[in-house]
Amino acid sequence: MAVANCSGQNMNSQHFDLDTSWSMLVQHHPTPVIEIGGMLGTQLLTFWLPAACFTICDLLAWPTLQRYKIQPANKQPDPTSIARDAFLGSLSNQLLTTTLHALQLLLFHVILRRPELGYSVAPSLPSLGVFARDFVLCMVAREVIYYYAHRVLHHPLFYTRFHRQHHRFRTPVAMATLYAHPVEHIVTNILPIAWPARLFNVHIVTLWAFVGAVGLKAALAHSGYRLWETPDGWKPEVHDLHHELMTVNYGLIGLMDRVHGTRATEKPKKK
Ligand SMILES: [Zn+2]
Ligand SMILES: [Zn+2]
Repeated sequence: MAVANCSGQNMNSQHFDLDTSWSMLVQHHPTPVIEIGGMLGTQLLTFWLPAACFTICDLLAWPTLQRYKIQPANKQPDPTSIARDAFLGSLSNQLLTTTLHALQLLLFHVILRRPELGYSVAPSLPSLGVFARDFVLCMVAREVIYYYAHRVLHHPLFYTRFHRQHHRFRTPVAMATLYAHPVEHIVTNILPIAWPARLFNVHIVTLWAFVGAVGLKAALAHSGYRLWETPDGWKPEVHDLHHELMTVNYGLIGLMDRVHGTRATEKPKKK
């Protein structure tokens, strides 16, 4: 397919827009390389970079910044737990994510030769309206899947085996965001993003944007710092409270917690 047909633009023209650049990228590089490269780049920029910055602050423990910590200094994890356990735990789950993505590409592109079963790497970028619709669909679907999966993980049958590892950090730090049992990582961190993206056939660029937003928000939610509150009531204190109390805030955007009455934005006052 000629680039001019994909983008509706004449390649001879000097006008070199985003859609044309994307079409050329798709035409000149193998889909698996684009998918893995884009996904890893997104995760590095939106999760690992902010998590590394927060970790430097945690390890140096500057008194000026400690004032903004949600939980007191005597509850903060020790530097070894942060630098070794949290980092290695998160890194191993990042490797698991990338390995599963590579295996999915191998299955669909090489073994089955059915690339259409994977994510959509269409040569045209989605319109702004389609991008916004798919982003919201992914966000709501992820909230529903994540909420129920997370509540199941808190059931006594599953908590000790699969979820206790993530709750080891009752005072969360950004580097411990992905510190979780591999089963929990697949069920709550990978599938609630991968399934909706495939179900709604969202464009890979939309998926990257969604993964980027999710990664950044997860790092902020686990940072342990008082930062800011969004108009819908989200703030790092919300997930921090889940780590501390373990009976509230099972969801991510507050939607399902409001439905089930498990939302809390402040610690209950002691009677
Ligand atoms: Zn958490
Ligand atoms: Zn939990």
